[in-house]
Amino acid sequence: MTRYAAPGTEGALMAYAPRYGHFIGGAYVDPVRGRWFANPSPVDGQVFTEVARGTAEDVERALDAAHAAAPAWGRTPAAERSAVLLRIADRTEQHLEALAVAETWENGKPVRETLAADLPLAIDHFRYFAGVLRAQEGSLSELDGDTVAYHFHEPLGVVAQIIPWNFPLLMAAWKLAPALAAGNTVVLKPAEQTPASVHYWLGLVADLLPPGVVNVVNGFGEEAGKPLASSPRVAKIAFTGETSTGRLIMRYAAENLKPVTLELGGKSPNLFFDDIWAVDDDLRDKALEGFAMFALNQGEVCTCPSRALIERGRYGDFLDAAVARTRLIVPGHPLDTDTMIGAQASEEQLKKILSYVELGRKEGAKILTGGRRQELDGELAGGYYVQPTVFEGDNRMRIFQEEIFGPVVSVTSFEDFDDAVRIANDTAYGLGAGVWTRDVNTAYRAGRALQAGRVWQNTYHAYPAHAAFGGYKQSGIGREGHKMMLEHYQQTKNLLVSYSPRKL
Ligand code: NAD
Repeated sequence: MTRYAAPGTEGALMAYAPRYGHFIGGAYVDPVRGRWFANPSPVDGQVFTEVARGTAEDVERALDAAHAAAPAWGRTPAAERSAVLLRIADRTEQHLEALAVAETWENGKPVRETLAADLPLAIDHFRYFAGVLRAQEGSLSELDGDTVAYHFHEPLGVVAQIIPWNFPLLMAAWKLAPALAAGNTVVLKPAEQTPASVHYWLGLVADLLPPGVVNVVNGFGEEAGKPLASSPRVAKIAFTGETSTGRLIMRYAAENLKPVTLELGGKSPNLFFDDIWAVDDDLRDKALEGFAMFALNQGEVCTCPSRALIERGRYGDFLDAAVARTRLIVPGHPLDTDTMIGAQASEEQLKKILSYVELGRKEGAKILTGGRRQELDGELAGGYYVQPTVFEGDNRMRIFQEEIFGPVVSVTSFEDFDDAVRIANDTAYGLGAGVWTRDVNTAYRAGRALQAGRVWQNTYHAYPAHAAFGGYKQSGIGREGHKMMLEHYQQTKNLLVSYSPRKL
């Protein structure tokens, strides 16, 4: 067990700056209107830094810087852009532990996760796009013996990126790596709840980028996000956040006819077929772990497996074991590597989750474990902790249909394959899904029948850079990860050339 010291205290790996302005044109600048807001840590509820409160004026300054940098960055040879991304990955890796602590302090998630997942995945994202960028090629079509159509990939120019609070550094990496690889410059707005770890990271890597290539404007959705997403000066908007906000973003973009990619909410089903229980082996145990993953990242994951569907035949046996497994999830100090569930990212989120627990009770769902705020002592008393909670109920209930975004799973049973697929697809969302079975035919057929952009089979919550991720239905438009992402940040230039000496 390692217990890291809190940022800025004696023995700590890192300290946040007392305040973070906007990062524009390669330097920190104060907000035009001179307003700042406090950033509390969810670990103890105490304010640890202040952040510039951005407005349209700040967004304009950032767009000026991004436009000034765009032509040169867009022309930078692929090998050089790739080298920059690799250097960013290396520098991030050199500071992995400090960044993991920064992310934990900012977001509340356990440091065992930031060390093992958030940071390694973010680093790999830069390495992956550094690689695929160099392997990308245009194409040509030979129209006839003398006429050729060439297709080139060109950067879009200046792109806007707006990210949420649940994976601040990883979401920044998911957005920045492909956009920069494709030759764009960026104005990024972090979530108002979690701007600081992004700035701590920027402080470590900013010297590796030409000024103006990455600009970060802090602030709230309406005040800073809206002017950015509504600006006619951006060539594309990439957004991750709630489905309701995604609708607004699309509306803003429509005004200026700008392309959008949207990564939105989910209510992901996790299907457990009877045959998983039939043998007492590692796969059965893995399935129980897969069930308990609803509490990973405190349930603040867009793909949280928040609906568990268990086949009727072994329903009771599986559920008893799954509840027992859930009770083994260790709460505690997020900076302690033994801790398995940390703090919810904000007080607002804590209240939202507890109100859904209350709603589940009122709807008649049965609580099998959890259902309360997790009381912790000492310095954690002011933090935002919730017990992992298992509800048993019916898929028509609101706790089965609405995104709670907390460590809460709603469980029901299914009769057979068709019933499982029907219940799983009975949702407005379509982001992730899990299928647990020993039968390869069931796995394949379920995987194809489920309306979700990512279906995990006998695993869950894996996010490699080289697998496409994104939503069906109300869960989004476009994909993240995978080399196909480069094209989301490029346009196609077609040169249609005649080499014939004949007249037209
Ligand atoms: P949110 O929509 O409230 O906020 C996301 C970002 O949008 C923030 O930076 C916020 O300031 C900004 N924003 C809010 N209103 C805006 C407006 N009117 N104009 C422009 N920007 C605005 O979402 P959140 O609560 O921060 O994040 C949680 C949500 O994100 C969940 O629904 C979750 O499922 C989703 N999410 C999805 C994915 C995915 O890949 N599909 C990944 C992570 C999170």
